[in-house]
Amino acid sequence: MEFEAIIGLEIHAELNCETKAFCSCPVAFAKEANSCTCPVCMGMPGALPTLNKKVPEYAVMLGIALNCKIREKSQHARKNYFYPDLPKGYQISQAKLPICYDGCVELDDKKIRINRIHIEEDAGKLIHMDGKTLIDYNRAGVPLVEIVTEPDLRSAKEAKLLLEKIKENLLYLGISECKMQQGNLRCDVNVSVRRKGDTVYNQRCEMKNVNSISAMERCINYEINRQIEIYKQGGSIQRQTRRWIDEKNESVVLREKESIGEYRYFPDPDLPCIEVTEAVLLKIKSAMPELPEIKRSRYLDNYALTKYECEEIMRVKAFTKILDEAVEHKAPAKKAYNYLVSDIARLINEKNITPDEIPFGGKQIAELIAMIEEGKITSTTAKDVIGCMFSENKSPSEIVKENNFTQLEDPKLLKAVVLDVLAENQKSVDDYKKGKKKAMGFIMGECMRKTHNRANASILSLVIREELEK
Ligand code: ADP
Ligand code: MG
Ligand code: ZN
Repeated sequence: MEFEAIIGLEIHAELNCETKAFCSCPVAFAKEANSCTCPVCMGMPGALPTLNKKVPEYAVMLGIALNCKIREKSQHARKNYFYPDLPKGYQISQAKLPICYDGCVELDDKKIRINRIHIEEDAGKLIHMDGKTLIDYNRAGVPLVEIVTEPDLRSAKEAKLLLEKIKENLLYLGISECKMQQGNLRCDVNVSVRRKGDTVYNQRCEMKNVNSISAMERCINYEINRQIEIYKQGGSIQRQTRRWIDEKNESVVLREKESIGEYRYFPDPDLPCIEVTEAVLLKIKSAMPELPEIKRSRYLDNYALTKYECEEIMRVKAFTKILDEAVEHKAPAKKAYNYLVSDIARLINEKNITPDEIPFGGKQIAELIAMIEEGKITSTTAKDVIGCMFSENKSPSEIVKENNFTQLEDPKLLKAVVLDVLAENQKSVDDYKKGKKKAMGFIMGECMRKTHNRANASILSLVIREELEK
């Protein structure tokens, strides 16, 4: 009997806002516990929420990126539950009228429908310690968007591709840091299985605590196998919320799932509806950064990068920014690309900094490439110049000037070097004269070493040949 997996994701992304969703407390990571709180996010009686206007703006940007319809008037709703991570006794979320709905994301060969994107506030953090529980409310009220897919995914691989696509959009729009390890981006995974050919869905389980993309893949594959085994033995699946324990590669029951009724959703009377008028929508659209899909096709078409190169560079947003700037300053795209993924990537690794911390931009890269093309420096010297660009806040031409990096092209000057090298390496000269043309390579290398790689290679080799043939 063949089975088929049915998967839907609920993705939570913390938004890059400076302040919380409904109060002016700062959004901060790893600050002293409960130092970023106020009467609103602590749920004090009488304190009233005010919506941070960045929140719907960001949600709408994401909605546009994921091909959603944007609701003109959407509504906040209270999701009631009693648990100490939210002091109010309810979470402000959206229910019947989410801000974005009916979207889709294109994977390689299929479309995954997006049911909705809604706005909500994050809960506080419970820290269980020595049989006691500590609570940190710094995260309570941090703005989130929740993206809910239709159950259109059929494998762990598809779920991975979808999550990567959504993450890429969040990052390129600059609306979330997307650090899964820090809980910045979280994903709940819904899985059911059915016999191939069946048209109705079976009961599903929802897995929480999935904190990396690879953990999500493991979690889905585990759950698919678990459910198939149960069906094979004639059992049935109970609707459950389960907790994924990655270290053990297994999941355990967290609770029998609460039904929607238990949350007693109702419109929040403390907040007016969120209005996104045609004018607001236009304004948001026109201020939006380039979407990753569009960047991708631009790189393929205009920059003539291969598909592979395109994926390489798209993985690092900071690189794409430098690449675009370099091209704006007339650098050939492919050359700029090569410096980014090779020398620059290596140096940021060695220096243990992030790509966002690169201390120069595309303008400097364009200048460097121009100097190579104009023959001012050799491409070997260019590598040294890049090294200096990381440590000195100077332009490539300043660095070249101060370090005497200019290419040596004067035959007279090169001849002096060559004569020195020949005098020091009589054996190689004899070898060459006996017909061992390979000796030329060694002499060339020695001359390059003496000039610190600054010699113009073709002029140098002419000079060497001339001297040897004498
Ligand atoms: P609820 O509000 O009860 O959590 P939703 O309808 O919002 O349920 O669905 C939550 C998630 O579960 C969605 O991502 C959806 O795609 C997924 N889902 C719904 N039904 C199934 C199913 N039978 N199998 C797998 N996933 C499902
Ligand atoms: Mg749900
Ligand atoms: Zn607050």
